[in-house]
Amino acid sequence: MNHTPENKCASCKGATCCTYITQPISTPRTKKDFSNLLWQVSHRGVHAFRDEGTWYLLFDSRCTHLQADGRCGIYDTRPHICRKHSNDYCEFDAPREEGFELHFQNYDELLEYCKKKFKHWDKAKSSEGSGKKGKKKKH
Ligand code: SF4
Ligand code: SF4
Repeated sequence: MNHTPENKCASCKGATCCTYITQPISTPRTKKDFSNLLWQVSHRGVHAFRDEGTWYLLFDSRCTHLQADGRCGIYDTRPHICRKHSNDYCEFDAPREEGFELHFQNYDELLEYCKKKFKHWDKAKSSEGSGKKGKKKKH
């Protein structure tokens, strides 16, 4: 079958574009920034990546409106960002991570990067801040 933007979504049962969200974040620069990022990617389904110079968090989380058949359950009133999403060249055509300059899918991947980026990374251990971060979280 020849896929076109008109028929592509109908045959895309996985609907990958509806199974995760991304959020731009401030560029991490210091050891403390990267330590915070390590904490974030330690959570299942949370990735960090850089694309065209901007850093993002990615959360693997299927939209609650996505139906079993791959259709949107609130299609007529779906959010603006969903309306804007173009399927000309989307996750159906290539993995979402294609083109990411950096991509960290878990703690170990980011830790390896930190150790290369900061010569004395290991000396950063718990020297900044105190207490459990989780206790200070605000939701
Ligand atoms: S935009 Fe792409 S990934 Fe999303 S449902 Fe359509 S074809 Fe699938
Ligand atoms: S609201 Fe609809 S189009 Fe938007 S992410 Fe959810 S299922 Fe997909």
